[in-house]
Amino acid sequence: MKQILVVEDSTFFGRLLEKRLNQIPDMEVQWAQTREEARELLFNPDYSFDVGIAGYDLPDAPDGEVLEDFQTVGLSTLVFTGAVSDQVRQRVWSLGVVDYLLKEDAQNLEFLASTVERLQSNPDTGILVVDDSSLPRETLARLLRVHRYTVYEAPDGKKGLELLKKHKDIRLVITDFHMPEMDGFELTQAIRKNFSRNDLAIIGISAQGKGIMAARFLKCGANDFIIKQQFLTEEFYGRVTQILENLENISRIRKMATTDSLTGLANRRRFFADGETMIKKAAKSRTHLCCAMLDLDHFKRVNDTYGHDTGDQVLRHVSSMIKNHFPQMVLKARLGGEEFALLFPYPEVEATRLLESFRKKLEKAPVTAESGDEIQVTTSIGLAIDTQPGEKHLDDLLKSSDQRLYLAKENGRNRLVAKD
Ligand code: GH3
Ligand code: MG
Ligand code: MG
Repeated sequence: MKQILVVEDSTFFGRLLEKRLNQIPDMEVQWAQTREEARELLFNPDYSFDVGIAGYDLPDAPDGEVLEDFQTVGLSTLVFTGAVSDQVRQRVWSLGVVDYLLKEDAQNLEFLASTVERLQSNPDTGILVVDDSSLPRETLARLLRVHRYTVYEAPDGKKGLELLKKHKDIRLVITDFHMPEMDGFELTQAIRKNFSRNDLAIIGISAQGKGIMAARFLKCGANDFIIKQQFLTEEFYGRVTQILENLENISRIRKMATTDSLTGLANRRRFFADGETMIKKAAKSRTHLCCAMLDLDHFKRVNDTYGHDTGDQVLRHVSSMIKNHFPQMVLKARLGGEEFALLFPYPEVEATRLLESFRKKLEKAPVTAESGDEIQVTTSIGLAIDTQPGEKHLDDLLKSSDQRLYLAKENGRNRLVAKD
């Protein structure tokens, strides 16, 4: 459980904050109304705060003094203010706060809650900053660390590419243009050979913003461009957050489009996409692949006797057993209805052993219907093997396992057939 300290003198607003923030999973809010109360909590060893949120002007701390207390104990700090003068802005950023928010804006509670949530997940996101001048590089790195991203720094493009290869958590590269040996355009182009804009984002930065610098960065494959000396801290944070949210949305949509919603297994689309990759890998490493098709026996009877919902329950039960029984390396998909397909990067003996033990386990694990009846579930299985590594297409393997599945049904069901 993480702890948030809220310091706000208005009872109405303080209550709102406390209520909304307490809804964040694994977060617990302590609320103080003055700097004095806040300091008592901050220096009380019973508490260990992670995030501090405070009004800028409190009755006993009119000029953001409580923010200094937060910084002393190393809290991630968010601040509310009624008005933002240039002076307040500068002071707030110089204190290294995560963000400031306007008090009257109604959306702020939601924005605040999502910022606090992002702070918890940002350490999983790597950002690489590439710049040969150390001062601007360190400035950006420091700003990003305030938001708790995992930051990597490189003084040139070559080192940048090395870090990118090594750290798989990197989702965003921020690169300067003027650098010795490899400039920002060349680095962007080199990165785009291996990473699409939907997998990894790039922001170009340069001291000169005039002319076609921005356009050229974008043409090389960058997602965005920032002029070095002119950017505002809030604009920088805004762009970084937006770019990373876009990447997350794309990956979420991709996942939804390739996952079977009832069972969480791969769907037909992912089976073919990931299956082709596995076939190419097998051809390269000269290893064998096996493909199995499973079809539940007399499944229609389950629906007819107990109803469609119980049918769904059986499908989820079988899927969760598939997930637990077969190793991670095995591609596991629901092709549709009560048909499942598995692709093994293993030779025939190993695939047969795993499938036979699964078949026996399933037959002994009945599903309890709402009525209390125990429903026995069995499956017929067809197995096909490539005789030469990488020799067959996935279509052919699947077709041949489907023919053997048909034989398994013909021969009395609840069995594995691996020959024509
Ligand atoms: P066999 O042993 O020959 O495979 O017989 P079967 O009854 O399993 O095969 P059949 O193809 O006749 O019936 C499959 C049934 O699966 C018919 C269909 O209504 C049902 N089904 C398909 N998709 C779903 C689903 O998502 N949920 C449920 N509950 N039933 C489904
Ligand atoms: Mg069936
Ligand atoms: Mg069927």
